[in-house]
Amino acid sequence: MAARTLESRFERMTVNDDGEHLKTKVTATTTQVSHSSSRPNLYKVALQTQTANAALTLPSQAGQRKAGQPSSPTRKPLPTAASRASSEEVSQLERKAATLIEQPTIKNFHLGMFEIGRPLGKGKFGRVYLARERTSGFICALKVLHKSELSQGRVEKQVRREIEIQSNLRHPNILQLFGHFHDSKRVFLILEFAAQGELYKHLRRENRFPEWKASQYIAQMASALRYLHRKHVIHRDIKPENILVGIHGEIKISDFGWSVHAPNSRRETMCGTLDYLPPEMIKPGSSDNSYNEKVDLWSLGVLTYEFLVGEAPFEDTPVMTHRRIARADMTIPSFVSPEARDLIKRLLVLDPEKRIPLEQVQTHPWILKHCAKNSAHTKAH
Ligand code: ATP
Ligand code: MG
Repeated sequence: MAARTLESRFERMTVNDDGEHLKTKVTATTTQVSHSSSRPNLYKVALQTQTANAALTLPSQAGQRKAGQPSSPTRKPLPTAASRASSEEVSQLERKAATLIEQPTIKNFHLGMFEIGRPLGKGKFGRVYLARERTSGFICALKVLHKSELSQGRVEKQVRREIEIQSNLRHPNILQLFGHFHDSKRVFLILEFAAQGELYKHLRRENRFPEWKASQYIAQMASALRYLHRKHVIHRDIKPENILVGIHGEIKISDFGWSVHAPNSRRETMCGTLDYLPPEMIKPGSSDNSYNEKVDLWSLGVLTYEFLVGEAPFEDTPVMTHRRIARADMTIPSFVSPEARDLIKRLLVLDPEKRIPLEQVQTHPWILKHCAKNSAHTKAH
């Protein structure tokens, strides 16, 4: 399909032309986030992740390598002599290669570079389409946000933060943001494609997950959260609706709209679902700095419960949910195994400092029992 046709297809999607006053702000974001580069190529961008995370490469990514394309950055043939010098040379070459691919290639993306496929879904502010970059054939998801809607919803800052944070993350269980670009009316996010869609839908379809599956999902969550927390990122909005599923059944945390680099004010979060809010965030008078990354541990406990039971532990009327969270008042049904019960109880602890740390979640008996290899690779199928 010609680029022009695509452009006009997107034009028709425009809801409102009032995008101009956002322009400066979004441009500023773009300048801040984008890096200088010569030739944008999504395949190259994706390769950066592979190399940065060589041990973590997933088959889904490997599967995107097309025949005839390099599986790694161009390398000269390595010297054959197995000497000290050659190993130095090797590392030198590797450093060179690393610099090569670390050359940011995330600029100059534009709509014409993509073939647009079927719609994948619709969010509050954006529509998401399956897309393929023409030159490399790389499959991705393109999220289209209308500047006018972002400004009407007063979420420019949120989107800006989402872009800044998510584009710096590289983990197999975190949905990758490869890059972004914009025109006068819209912002486009180039996202990793999660072939199996929303985890929330899987959960509703299956009612609740068997213990082995829940355990493998929680192990992947723990791995991703550990990575985030090491980078001082708190997600703050962990729930099944914000988790996608990759082609091999591996989970991908998405939606970094509420995430922060450090404790921060976010009273407005109160309008969403209460079910996953930790007690320290609902406490009356809780100040902006009164919580830390341990809020994600609480949410991980709620998630574990919901995976196994099919509903969140404090689901009730809003008033009652508040009250019950403040007391960690919940009952775990008898069909939940003692190991799982133990983990839930160690996560849903009122005192944030007393919640089980992520390293211990990863080696908890319930996780070890179901995950042969406790790693981010653990597949759910
Ligand atoms: P909200 O903006 O209200 O938080 P949301 O997070 O569901 O909504 P989007 O992130 O815009 O909104 O995504 C809308 C839907 O599109 C998702 O629920 C999902 O079904 C689908 N989707 C989004 N991103 C991807 C992706 N990378 N791969 C596959 N499907 C996706
Ligand atoms: Mg969302």
